[in-house]
Amino acid sequence: MNCNQIRERMPDVAAGLSKPTADEGKHLESCAACAEQLRAMRATMTLLDEWQVPEPSPYFDVRLQARLREEMAKPQASWLQWFRRPVLAAALTVLFGVGVGLFVTRGRIADPGQPVAEVGTAVSDLQTLEKNHEMYSDFELLDDLDLQQDVEANP
Ligand SMILES: [Zn+2]
Repeated sequence: MNCNQIRERMPDVAAGLSKPTADEGKHLESCAACAEQLRAMRATMTLLDEWQVPEPSPYFDVRLQARLREEMAKPQASWLQWFRRPVLAAALTVLFGVGVGLFVTRGRIADPGQPVAEVGTAVSDLQTLEKNHEMYSDFELLDDLDLQQDVEANP
């Protein structure tokens, strides 16, 4: 009999569901650690036996049903909430688009005299993106031109 073997059986022994065997009794006498664990487990079991589960408040059911009735009574309010959310999102999207549009337009108009923004800021990033976009637009124009020339050369 070793400590692991007896500790597997300990909950049953502590709960009084089974008596310790002769080997287990011998081990408990010789092993202070296991004896202490069994004593602690028995104390916990006793405490659990004495513990009274608290009764729910007598008003719990009444209040729960009142809450449920309240929620059921306002289907229109929740329907409006669902309707408002997409509208708000759409409004924010439009506002964001207008803001970006204004920023880009103003940046383009003021471009020649505008001092270059500090590197690493959001403004400089946007300026870089805009420059790149203009460059790629030119490339696309060139592509179209080449294609047209090809078509004209080989009809
Ligand atoms: Zn032991």
